[in-house]
Order: sequence, then structure tokens, then C-alpha cells
Amino acid sequence: MASIFTKIIQREIPADIVYEQDNIIVIRDINPQAKTHLLIIPKKEIPTLNDIVDDDSELMSDMFLAAKKVTKDLGIDEWYSLRLNVWEKWGQEVFHIHMHLLSDI
Ligand code: AMP
Repeated sequence: MASIFTKIIQREIPADIVYEQDNIIVIRDINPQAKTHLLIIPKKEIPTLNDIVDDDSELMSDMFLAAKKVTKDLGIDEWYSLRLNVWEKWGQEVFHIHMHLLSDI
């Protein structure tokens, strides 16, 4: 079954999309934990960071480059935090890799 993020990527359910490129989408978290709370999501559905393979290295670096671009575009590039949860014990709820980008600006 497709993850909730794949459904957003495929426009089956709505989301506040901040940025999109061929392999990544950035949306606003539906339950923000900071003034700005974004999710940087690879379009490839990978359940957890433990499931990445060597071929995903460019995709993983693209997630960081997307963070750099979006924070610059939003003017929050001098004050933000990135977080990636792995497995339920550390808070992962959606099993489709995503990086939280949080800023109080
Ligand atoms: P995690 O706990 O690391 O798996 O984070 C999952 C995040 O996805 C949570 O912060 C949720 O608030 C967020 N989330 C879940 N469903 C949606 C949705 N439909 N649109 C935007 N964010 C969502």
C-alpha cells in the first residue's frame, strides 16, 4: 500500500507543497512543532534510513541540497534544525523516509 507521502506526491490527497523537484517534494507538516515545520521527502518510497542502498546516495544528498534551497528561499537559512526519525522507538510514524526541517523564524 502506498504511504501517505506517496499519495501526496501523486496528488491523491492534498498538502501544502513548498517545493518540488524531480526526485523530492517538500511540504508543510500538518501538525507543526515549530513556527516553520517542513518535511523533506524523497519521491522514492524508502521505509527507513536503514533501507537506503548505495544507489540512493545522490537522492540522500539531494535531500540536504533541498533543505539548503528551501531555507534560503524562505529566509530561514541562518536558524534551523534537521531531524530524521528511525523506527517507532525514536518517533517514526510514517514509514517513508522524511527529514523534518524546523525553525522558529
Ligand atoms: P515521523 O514521526 O518522523 O514519522 O513524522 C511524520 C510526520 O508527518 C509528523 O510530524 C506528522 O505530523 C506528519 N504528517 C502526517 N500526515 C501528514 C500529512 N497528510 N500532511 C503533512 N504532514 C503529515
